[in-house]
Amino acid sequence: MSEQQQGSQESTKGQGFETRAIHAGYEPDPTTGAVIPPIFATSTYKQDGVGGLRGGYEYSRSGNPTRTALEGNLAALEEGERAFAFASGLAAEDTLIRALCRPGDHVVLPDDAYGGTYRLFDKVAQVWGLAHSPAPVSDVDRVAAAVRPGETKLVWVETPTNPLLNIGDIEALAAVAHDAGALLVVDNTFASPYLQQPLTLGADVVVHSTTKYVGGHSDVVGGALVVRDLQLAEKLTFHQNAMGAVAGPFDSWLTLRGIRTLALRMERHCDNAEKVVAFLAAHPAVEEVIYPGLESHPGHEVAQRQMLRYGGMVSFRVRGGEERALAVCERTELFTLGESLGGVESLIEHPGRMTHASVAGTDLEVPADLVRLSVGIETADDLLGDLDRALG
Ligand SMILES: *Cc1c(COP(=O)(O)O)cnc(C)c1O
Repeated sequence: MSEQQQGSQESTKGQGFETRAIHAGYEPDPTTGAVIPPIFATSTYKQDGVGGLRGGYEYSRSGNPTRTALEGNLAALEEGERAFAFASGLAAEDTLIRALCRPGDHVVLPDDAYGGTYRLFDKVAQVWGLAHSPAPVSDVDRVAAAVRPGETKLVWVETPTNPLLNIGDIEALAAVAHDAGALLVVDNTFASPYLQQPLTLGADVVVHSTTKYVGGHSDVVGGALVVRDLQLAEKLTFHQNAMGAVAGPFDSWLTLRGIRTLALRMERHCDNAEKVVAFLAAHPAVEEVIYPGLESHPGHEVAQRQMLRYGGMVSFRVRGGEERALAVCERTELFTLGESLGGVESLIEHPGRMTHASVAGTDLEVPADLVRLSVGIETADDLLGDLDRALG
């Protein structure tokens, strides 16, 4: 792999997050000066004599300059050495699992993992002999108890989790994983690299669904893996190409376009979420507000230590039970009823009937009166007015 194919995050090391978000991974095009990386819609590349590759590019599954720009940028944002961009978050996860695990191995998963992640382990990887057991990420001792020394290859963590926004202590969980000879994987989708950089806290692999905050505009599906260790990077380079679930050039370009405003968006997501939390906490129709920024949240101190701010996701329980919660979800107008999260527009959903319907009746069941908000970057007063009408 050539210098060019590794992106140019080297040159932005030590620069601030906003600078890296805008400049890392790409230098203006040497032939035209194009400030923005072109969408290299090409599958193959002219060779200058057999094997005479320009910049290391020979075929776009193996490497494409638009994807290279995105990968260099993501590595810089997560303070990693190498990043890999995929067609979706789950494609990234699948590649990671098959690169690092073998039949007979074991993985510890969050007991409230993202549903698609749980399904991948439970319905796909398990068939090929990869065992998994659940543990609450907020309880380091229970994660440690779930580890099987010699068998556990990965300790998989989300923080904050979905939809109860539990917080895992990344430093402590890294120690648990490393004591057992396992790697710590952190799905950083909910926090985004702006609010939290797990590799700097001891995590070995960062996973993203870039579909969410990283892309940020609900217009593209994508995923990423970021690592520091170059041997790990070598395995992922091989598997990304061998398995082929890569991000296409259009998707890479859209994602990179989203990233340029990630810092600004996250600040406004957090500002608006804080206003929504204060409003809901004082509302008589609300039983409980769940947000890591609240001192009453059990993970508040850990979140304060490892996150810049507390993010744009807010969950709350509606007084009066499931029917009332469903009614709130159906009555908002600005908060669009829908799954997914992390876009500029506000979304509302009922986890029990929507994103978490598949875990009904299990230990992972969520309260029936729970509502989840992905607080967008609209005018805060309009969002509060919408919630007030829906709750009224
Ligand atoms: C959406 C999501 C994923 C899966 O990503 P896709 O891009 O939908 O494949 C994984 N983890 C978390 C936390 C998510 O929110």
